[in-house]
Amino acid sequence: MSKQYLQQNALLSWYAASKRDLPWRHTKDPWSILLSEILLQQTQVSRGIGYWHRLTARFPTPQSMAAAEVDEVLHLWQGAGYYSRARRLHALAQTVCLPSSEGGYDGQMPTTAEELRTLPGVGPYTAAAVASIAFGEPVACVDGNIRRVMARQTVQTNPSLKQVEAWAASNLYVEDAGDWNQAMMELGATTCTPRQPKCEVCSVASSCKGREEAHRYPEPKKIKRKRLDLTCALNIDSLGRPHLVQREMKGILAGMWGPPMGEQLDVEGLEYIGEVKHVLSHRDLFVKVWRGSCDVGTEPSSVAISSLDAKILSLVNE
Ligand code: SF4
Repeated sequence: MSKQYLQQNALLSWYAASKRDLPWRHTKDPWSILLSEILLQQTQVSRGIGYWHRLTARFPTPQSMAAAEVDEVLHLWQGAGYYSRARRLHALAQTVCLPSSEGGYDGQMPTTAEELRTLPGVGPYTAAAVASIAFGEPVACVDGNIRRVMARQTVQTNPSLKQVEAWAASNLYVEDAGDWNQAMMELGATTCTPRQPKCEVCSVASSCKGREEAHRYPEPKKIKRKRLDLTCALNIDSLGRPHLVQREMKGILAGMWGPPMGEQLDVEGLEYIGEVKHVLSHRDLFVKVWRGSCDVGTEPSSVAISSLDAKILSLVNE
């Protein structure tokens, strides 16, 4: 093992002994690993496990997803949030299944980070994770976890992306980049956590210059939260079914179904029944809901409904 800044042996031994038993850690199948990485971008691990099992059971290959309607993928994604991921995943499966003469990969998952990055919804982190874990490519993952570990190890309050990438690449254990990347991610997720790092049990504490004042590194980013006020018309038919429409194929609710909603919706003649608040990573949505009637509604379980829309629909029963 090469001599590097981080104690590679210590981190890898700790990872081998302490890693969480996550289902995608039992496979080298690039498609299954890709599904886990895309899910974990914005869904907690504990919630992601169920989604991963359902997705891999229904769509065990890119071919199976490419042949399905995007609505079915959205339906399985229901409740996981950030629905544009599901739509891009469907587009990704279709791209993989295109012939190479048309810019696709003949149904085979690309094997390098460079090729993986050409797929819809795949950024540098996801490409490096899949290429290293499934194919052993010696390429380092960089994300918020790695940046936090790097900032603390090297006492930098605001390291640039280039600095983090250079640090991650210079510390990479090239003989098993997949395990190394997962060990680094595990360290950031379970030990070197944002608020209460467990320095006393950290396997790489001896090289960490910032461990006495870990909370100072990195400097927290100031996130400007935006407020968005929306109006929703919840029209119900005589059987109690709401009138539902499919949302635009872009934005936070991309392709999901729900009652008509917008910033300037005409709700004249409808009855005000309450407000729903929904918190996203950078935005707080406040939806005022008005109730009316319609001739024929839609059975909500037959379409993909977002968590926000599920909250809106539940107002009818209150
Ligand atoms: S010693 Fe503490 S601050 Fe340093 S890497 Fe380990 S957990 Fe993070």
